[in-house]
Amino acid sequence: MNSDRTTILPSGEVPRLLAAILLATLCACACRRPAPPSPAPAASGTASAIAAAKTLAAALDAVSGDRALANATAFADLGPKLPGTPESAAAADWLLARFAEAGAPAEAVPFTDPAPSGPQSFRNVVATIPPAPGSVPDGALPNLLLFAAHYDTKSGIPGFLGANDSASGVAVLLELARALAAHPLPGTEIRLACLDGEECAVQYGPRDGLHGSRRWAADLEASGDLPRIRAFILLDMVGDADLTPTLPRNCAPALLHLAFEAARAEGIRNRVSLFPGPVLDDHVPFHDRGVPALDLIDFQYGSAPGLNDYWHTPADTPDKLSAASLALAARLALRIAFSLP
Ligand SMILES: [Zn+2]
Repeated sequence: MNSDRTTILPSGEVPRLLAAILLATLCACACRRPAPPSPAPAASGTASAIAAAKTLAAALDAVSGDRALANATAFADLGPKLPGTPESAAAADWLLARFAEAGAPAEAVPFTDPAPSGPQSFRNVVATIPPAPGSVPDGALPNLLLFAAHYDTKSGIPGFLGANDSASGVAVLLELARALAAHPLPGTEIRLACLDGEECAVQYGPRDGLHGSRRWAADLEASGDLPRIRAFILLDMVGDADLTPTLPRNCAPALLHLAFEAARAEGIRNRVSLFPGPVLDDHVPFHDRGVPALDLIDFQYGSAPGLNDYWHTPADTPDKLSAASLALAARLALRIAFSLP
């Protein structure tokens, strides 16, 4: 373990920034751009606008930071979750049970993907919330809104629990599931995915890292569903007690705008900033396919403001998280969801 992680990266791992630039360059040439998402069945008139505002208020009220912190702590305490291991399978079972309790039944989606060590087993866990009853005309397909967080943990770090770098996003996703199952969106089906294999084993590349998101995006492309997706919203490292979201520049500008507006509504606009560059994360496979994508991430997770020295270290433990931050992250995501064009 290198003691100076602020300036020297772990051996074998390239900076996410450089990897993002490389991947973006490759994908810009190779990926098809689907048609833009079809417009949402927007609230028309004052009555429906008032109804939408009431639904948002009820959804926000359904969020519990204390429950999110309890879930994040319990999930982190399950220990390392390396893809294909019995511990990872147990974590997936834990997620299935929590989604069911939240009123958003989920299913495990196993798949095999090339990895540095050869073909590797992975398992996404995806919950579905149908649109508000009666909000989709007969014979029509609903729009889709996707939320995601990765649940695997980084390998090669003895004692690593990933309290912020996996459990926080999972806990917020469970809050979103509970709130949106009770207060669904009109005309829009919501899917919430706990993604496997976000972390690279050696170095980010086509066979290493982002396994779950690449598979999910490819499956949705193959089924012809990409044009139905209104937004893909990723939650990663959102539990830091000193929550200062740093939004990557490789996100949809319209969603960045909505994120800043949501932060303003929550009174934390001064704590949210643009990251200096792109970030390689699970939103990239969607962003590169033309899906409006947003990465809600706080990439300043450390012992002092501006530092990231807890990231990918044994110091990423539940005591660094706060209920208030987890609740804020869920509320930001809900405000964005309810303000999509
Ligand atoms: Zn990580």
